[in-house]
Amino acid sequence: MKIIVVGTGYVGLVHAAVCSEYGHEVHAFDIDSEKIEAFSGGRAEAIEEFVNEPGLANIIKETLGKSLFFSDDLEAIIEGTDAIFMCLPTPSNIDGSTNLTFYNAAAETIAEVLANRNDKRRVVLVNKSTVPIGTVRHFQKIMNAHGVDNYGVASNPEFLAEGSAVVDARKPDRVVVGCDYDEDFKILGRVYSQFVNHVRIKYIETTPETAEAIKYVANTMLLTYISFWNGVGAKIGEKIPNVKIDDLRLGVTADERISTWGSFVSNGAGGSCFGKDIASLINQLRRVNVSTKMLEASFEVNEYQKVYLVDRAITEAGFKFNNETVAVLGLAFKKHTNDMRDASSIKVIETLLGKGVAKIHAYDPLANETAKQVFDPSKNILFEKIRYFKSAKEAIAGTQALFISSDCEEFRGFSRTIEDTVKPPYLVMDGRRMIPDFEELVAKNYTYLAVGSMVMKPKQGEAEISEGELKFVAV
Ligand code: NAD
Repeated sequence: MKIIVVGTGYVGLVHAAVCSEYGHEVHAFDIDSEKIEAFSGGRAEAIEEFVNEPGLANIIKETLGKSLFFSDDLEAIIEGTDAIFMCLPTPSNIDGSTNLTFYNAAAETIAEVLANRNDKRRVVLVNKSTVPIGTVRHFQKIMNAHGVDNYGVASNPEFLAEGSAVVDARKPDRVVVGCDYDEDFKILGRVYSQFVNHVRIKYIETTPETAEAIKYVANTMLLTYISFWNGVGAKIGEKIPNVKIDDLRLGVTADERISTWGSFVSNGAGGSCFGKDIASLINQLRRVNVSTKMLEASFEVNEYQKVYLVDRAITEAGFKFNNETVAVLGLAFKKHTNDMRDASSIKVIETLLGKGVAKIHAYDPLANETAKQVFDPSKNILFEKIRYFKSAKEAIAGTQALFISSDCEEFRGFSRTIEDTVKPPYLVMDGRRMIPDFEELVAKNYTYLAVGSMVMKPKQGEAEISEGELKFVAV
């Protein structure tokens, strides 16, 4: 099959690469000519500067020029195309509704080019972008307005997770395809022939609107589950003495109906999708007069969760941030990615700067360069207080507190590095419960404050669980 992928971001580039592995002729198109140049060169470092996903650069290297091609000229690649996949950004507007500017611009370009093609074979226009339920009809209107003929529209939402995108695209849980016509189902069935009738992967054919809805319900369900653990489970561990959050989680998730995924309490879920998708669904449901209280609560719990350890540090550990230097470790929204969209670290750093810290020492194994763009001092002079380091050890040197904001494995065995690098009084804020041997740190007079547990602070060299008298005891 000849496939065009429009938009070579996380979703588009991975989809293009994985389809090219299966022998389709894939042309990936983007208006960003820097990206096209980097991807066409096939060098891993250049590719990873834009999309850093394990295994992705290797596939591109293998298939480039054979079954995978990059272009910024849609007209030159349009003839003979069977399917065009829309992988455009769909960010939020201020009111939470989905901003379709990128999507519409791409749809207009596609419509103009398709209206002038010579080859009139059936082409399916497939939404992989997450778009409000019913957008497929809007897409159709754009095509009809340009007089495009012999086309079908389809919704084929993407469920991959960053950090494991290649694995997820090669072996998804399910492939959801929403079409109006049998002939379009057939075309997509050939694109995804490796998944049709698969013993483990569910290949679901439905209406375009149902496919669009599946994506929103799935994502908001996942965020709601995370928020449940953060808003209920974690709070029980933080407020009621002698409740061990890890045991609570084990006991609850032993029930096979309750998922382990999402039960690890944290300083909130970030990433490009959860926040904007729940905001969009709230907006979509309000328009049809459906109560959105539950979704609003999930959203709010998640947003506050990103920074509440800073509040707890003040009220429970008595830490004063003013003029202190604080290390923030883990800038990307999770491990194995350089993506910082909606990362918890952004709110953490902004909150710390708002509390008057002297400096922030920032470190991430993959996202330091992305962070420099996010915290651009020309946008906010306070960002000049951020320094970037090549290792976590270097980042914590000279600080009075640290905040672990993502789940990079290297933070798990970090207690020894802390002991070797910074001396108490010192506050460890652990947003991911990454330090299992925290009791030893506390025994050595460090104060440990983790999501899901009461503050643990030293007293005359011995670990003491605070019951809320809320004073930072320096010994
Ligand atoms: P992205 O921002 O990483 O990439 C989008 C790409 O589209 C960019 O390369 C941009 O240059 C390009 N683009 C913008 N306008 C264009 C135009 N007019 N013509 C051609 N290319 C254009 O976005 P993403 O993370 O890949 O997300 C794409 C969609 O997939 C979104 O709707 C998102 O919600 C959804 N999604 C994302 C993920 C994820 O983990 N990132 C997972 C599932 C679904």
